[in-house]
Amino acid sequence: MIREVEKNGIIIKYELVRKRVKNINMRIKPDLTVSVSASPRVPLKYIDDFVLKKSDFILDAIDGYKSKEKLKPLYTAEEFSELIVRYYNEVYNSFREYNIPYPKLKIKKMSSRWGSCNYVKGIIALSVNLIYCTEEQIYYVIVHEFSHFLVHNHSREFYDIVSKFCPDYKRIRREMNQMVIK
Ligand SMILES: [Zn+2]
Repeated sequence: MIREVEKNGIIIKYELVRKRVKNINMRIKPDLTVSVSASPRVPLKYIDDFVLKKSDFILDAIDGYKSKEKLKPLYTAEEFSELIVRYYNEVYNSFREYNIPYPKLKIKKMSSRWGSCNYVKGIIALSVNLIYCTEEQIYYVIVHEFSHFLVHNHSREFYDIVSKFCPDYKRIRREMNQMVIK
């Protein structure tokens, strides 16, 4: 039986197996499904509450598994450079009202960052590792770097601009922080 519980808007699905165990056992399988076994005597409400209480642990464990997955490039080199240029120009156009001179684009190896913005020289550098990232993640990084032409730090004011063009940036940023790239 598949059941669902909700914590702060996040749905946690789990598979409930009734069997002769002492109380409740829970494990997270490598395919990231949550499996709970409980004795037939334990009421459903009690099991749901049990899973809810463990929800932080479950979500952390799933994130942990995910970050260990080996990342694969999502595009060919050609597709990747096309995509970058397309989004770069798209974001540049969205920032038109701010009159930013068209920045020079560099795509290069960067070890610990997805991108950087040299607002003095007018250069945006993007990491070659973005080839592991989804289109919305790439879009976010480009928006982020363009926003640095307006605000040079990561203040509230900065993210106000980012969110104007990328309203979902918090989730995207969180997902990118969990990616491990070697
Ligand atoms: Zn930044």
